[in-house]
Amino acid sequence: MIRVSAEHGLEVDLGGTRIGLDDYRGTRANYLFISHAHGDHLGRISSSTPVLSSDETALLAAVRGVALKVSSLADAELLPTGHILGAMALRLSGDLLYTGDLCDRNRGPLLGFDPPKVRTLIIESTYGSAEFCFPPVEDVMGVARDAIEDCLKRDIPVVVMGYALGKAQHLELLLAGVGPAYICPELKRYDDIYRLFGVEIPPKACLANRKDKGLLEKGPWILFAPFRSGRSSFNKYLERRFGARLMAFSGWACKRGYKEAMAVSEAFPLSDHSDFEGLLRVVKRSRASRVFTTHGFADELALHLRGIGYDAQPLPRGQRTLNEYLEGD
Ligand SMILES: [Zn+2]
Repeated sequence: MIRVSAEHGLEVDLGGTRIGLDDYRGTRANYLFISHAHGDHLGRISSSTPVLSSDETALLAAVRGVALKVSSLADAELLPTGHILGAMALRLSGDLLYTGDLCDRNRGPLLGFDPPKVRTLIIESTYGSAEFCFPPVEDVMGVARDAIEDCLKRDIPVVVMGYALGKAQHLELLLAGVGPAYICPELKRYDDIYRLFGVEIPPKACLANRKDKGLLEKGPWILFAPFRSGRSSFNKYLERRFGARLMAFSGWACKRGYKEAMAVSEAFPLSDHSDFEGLLRVVKRSRASRVFTTHGFADELALHLRGIGYDAQPLPRGQRTLNEYLEGD
């Protein structure tokens, strides 16, 4: 029997073995499942609890200062979700699938998530509202590349911003050959691990190196940087000192007013997640008879799924227990 509860974050009971999922805050789990190495999943990990994760996630966590005691468990299978390097879903007994963050589109070296058939699905719903419809990556990047090249031609440098882990590496691949290009030090450790696993990110000078500090003085450039608001002192400096344009890449760019709210010059809808239709495709392909939604627009996605005939429930944070939903399984 598999039971799911959400008293201290999500926990699955697999025949007496308790597995805490991602940002689990309890103390009684026998194992933790860490779907990927984004910071919101690495905050509360006890160093003594065995962890189910990919090698990539363990290495990315290590450079963030979090040691994972990687282990394995019979009946627990990890399946790549296409979100960032090493991101995995967890399938238990071939019966329950917890997706963690996912992207069902192929993107460079990452293959889109293709869910197996399961009875119970717990799916992330970061963009689980119909307002999130991402255009094809080629279209977004065609417009972005034209805008960047136009700036460089006019001697205007460009700051290309996305999450330091995952989005930044994808952007570096998509904009390979445009330049001269530099990176902020926050990206370097992740770039190096992507390369270690065979992803060929073009090498670049890093602004952390003393000898490279003066590079920005020499004409137009692209700087790959972690996501920061245009109001941050770093970006204000780049705008004031070099006349740089700030370009942000995020799924949230679909929302009206996002560019103004983030105080950037341009915002492009490029995401490491599936959009609304993508999440529906994953649910359909899994052929699950019961669906739980978690994170982001969990209520909206579950409501939509119920409207098209699924047995679907959101898993809001702080809910005490979900056992009643699974009684009789
Ligand atoms: Zn993530």
